[in-house]
Amino acid sequence: MRLSRYFLPVLKESPRDATIVSHQYMLRAGMIKQSSAGIYSWLPLGFKVLKRIEQIVHEEQERAGHIAIQMPTIQSADLWRESGRYEAYGDEMLRIKDRNGNDLLFTPTAEELVTDIFRSHVASYKSLPMTLYQIQWKFRDERRPRFGVMRGREFYMKDGYTFDLTKEDAMHAYNRHLVSYLRTYERMGLQAIPMRAASGPIGGDDTHEFLVLADTGESEVFYDAAVTELSFGNREIDYDDVAQCADVMEEFTTKYARTDETHDPALFDAIPADRQRTARGIEVGQIFYFGTKYSDAMGATVQGPDGKPTAVHMGSHGIGVSRLLGAIIEASHDDKGIIWPEGVTPFHVGIVNLKQGDADADAACQSLYDAVAALGLEALYDDRDERAGSKFGTMDMIGLPWRITVGPRGLKNGVVELTSRKTGESEEMPPEQAIAKIG
Ligand code: ATP
Ligand code: MG
Ligand code: MG
Ligand code: MG
Repeated sequence: MRLSRYFLPVLKESPRDATIVSHQYMLRAGMIKQSSAGIYSWLPLGFKVLKRIEQIVHEEQERAGHIAIQMPTIQSADLWRESGRYEAYGDEMLRIKDRNGNDLLFTPTAEELVTDIFRSHVASYKSLPMTLYQIQWKFRDERRPRFGVMRGREFYMKDGYTFDLTKEDAMHAYNRHLVSYLRTYERMGLQAIPMRAASGPIGGDDTHEFLVLADTGESEVFYDAAVTELSFGNREIDYDDVAQCADVMEEFTTKYARTDETHDPALFDAIPADRQRTARGIEVGQIFYFGTKYSDAMGATVQGPDGKPTAVHMGSHGIGVSRLLGAIIEASHDDKGIIWPEGVTPFHVGIVNLKQGDADADAACQSLYDAVAALGLEALYDDRDERAGSKFGTMDMIGLPWRITVGPRGLKNGVVELTSRKTGESEEMPPEQAIAKIG
């Protein structure tokens, strides 16, 4: 992409209502624009990152054997009356009436709708296990929308629903989700720690939240420092292997890590003092097992091996796709701007032409641009007629992992400059070598 043809409305100053760095930088980097409280338009750069995050979530869900669907954002209240949640959900639910006076709502989550799909089409235990998931916009009329996309009212969420014959099978589905989430967050360059949590309006006892440690997080967390040394890495995993998934679950959830809702000071004090940590965290996902809560209420049964109808055991599993942009920036930035992890960066490299209009510089930039494309990567080429300082400022703010700076003086010696956004280190080298380093 040539910057002269792109739409990147960067801001020089932080808008006053943005109090945390991720919100400030998303506005300054021209990624989002608020349309009303907690509701945002996604501008090209922000939309690109959102889609990259979404793609990673899809890939990891599919790898785990989960099946993508898409459910509507507007739902009939009737299903929610069946489960009893139409009244119970409270003020966070946006209720809407259509022209015929029917009660509708904008989905804050989708247990009822997916249970209805399931009960309409699945009759036998032989179809199980089954996990249906979607990535879809949600609306919750949050009391205090704030921190940009971190606590929006409209937000993008992956929500997956598991259907199993027994509790045991449902716990395997739960463990499978835990593993897939560990992989998902790590691919985004994030450490998200599973912590024992409380379940809230969705109900149920078995639940973990995934938290990214950050001073600006809204949750208070307590953990054993040893959990921060765990990483899933590139290990092989067979998602059908019950014992293997259970082992990962145990490895990642045995050490003390809890949110304030389930914090147990006695257990916490049993951790060696030098490993006790109290901190803040951003909830980027949550997994729940809630048994037959919805299947009982809504009559979602399958015929079991004994021929009798059995209510299915269910769980629901969420990832805050749009919140992740904020969480990643909170975890990866400096005073000049965002530092995108390679896994989610909107472009892989920025090309800065120090002398637009100089025939050699223009040609060298174009050939670098083509070479990046030939690697299957995307470059953002700053071909505007701007001062170098302003071009560097923009590149630093939008946080691409690499910058290649091209100027007539370097070209005379056959070199360009390659700069790592993360380390800030610059090195001169021939253009081909710069391309080799990026690829
Ligand atoms: P929170 O405790 O932050 O209000 P939640 O527990 O109500 O979140 P869940 O029902 O667990 O949210 O939804 C799954 C995920 O969706 C959360 O882990 C979070 O990452 C994301 N999420 C929830 N509410 C919002 C919101 N208002 N804005 C952006 N993302 C959200
Ligand atoms: Mg909430
Ligand atoms: Mg929560
Ligand atoms: Mg939650």
